[in-house]
Amino acid sequence: MSGFVDKPEPVQVPGLEHLHTGKVRDLYQNAAGELVMVASDRISAYDWVLPTEIPDKGRILTQLSLWWFDLLADLAPNHVISTDVPEGAPAEWAGRTMVCRRLRMFPVECVARGYLTGSGLAEYERDRTVCGLALPEGLADGSELPAPIFTPATKAEVGEHDENVSYEEVARRVGAETAARLRQATLAVYGRARDIARGRGIVLADTKFEFGFPEGDDERSLVLADEVLTPDSSRFWPADLWEPGRPQPSFDKQFVRDWLTSPASGWARTGEQPPPELPPSVVEQTRARYVEAYERLTGLPWS
Ligand code: ATP
Ligand code: MG
Repeated sequence: MSGFVDKPEPVQVPGLEHLHTGKVRDLYQNAAGELVMVASDRISAYDWVLPTEIPDKGRILTQLSLWWFDLLADLAPNHVISTDVPEGAPAEWAGRTMVCRRLRMFPVECVARGYLTGSGLAEYERDRTVCGLALPEGLADGSELPAPIFTPATKAEVGEHDENVSYEEVARRVGAETAARLRQATLAVYGRARDIARGRGIVLADTKFEFGFPEGDDERSLVLADEVLTPDSSRFWPADLWEPGRPQPSFDKQFVRDWLTSPASGWARTGEQPPPELPPSVVEQTRARYVEAYERLTGLPWS
């Protein structure tokens, strides 16, 4: 079982057409045909959108994405038009709203990995490859790879797992030229972001981008969309604690995952029951991790 524990009703705003309720974002279209993306405080883990929200999470993800979009603008054009809250929308949309160009999205999650962990580590331990790419002997959990690699995945529906796919499969789906450009753009943006993060005490182990192209365009312009380089789309590790050979502490949902799989939650991950509400201490520690990631990266205080 998976999905939403409580699927929220979309907020109705005159002049906005509700398009989609994602795991974290609510999508609308305005009268000008632009996409209005509103990041909620929802959090997902183990393919469930949990019944408990993390205060400020939607604003942190939005502000961090905007900070990165600016720093990356010369490498990749992005979908942001403005951060104006549409007229008639609730005041609490401020800071969590991005008005964007509505794009035709490529059906590929563009993942870059610079370090070995997670599903990459499991495959490496089995056959010394990650997504079919051969890697040298002697790497451990958390090791830096000889060079960053592009490991695309298919985009899954809410409640389904994303699945790693080969580069050849991406080329079949989007065409060889577009696949090559997605790989090039993914690795270029990852490389820039990894260097910036490193200078701020954070290891950017891996991250996921989504690209699209403008309606009516013949796919010549790749546009960076969605959110970028947030704790939800990336693995951030504190650089001072980085030590290959063990799982790394990280700036994300680690507290949530650890608590859900501990006896304290009383929840069986493989059973039929939806996950329970998070206790206040887990909410607070998780919020603190998101705030710390924002503050370390941007160098700005989170109000
Ligand atoms: P996940 O982030 O795990 O993939 P999700 O797909 O449910 O979950 P959300 O982040 O909640 O995603 O919602 C954002 C949705 O908006 C995604 O489906 C994303 O592909 C889509 N999207 C992002 N930017 C654009 C854009 N400029 N034009 C059209 N769709 C977009
Ligand atoms: Mg998303």
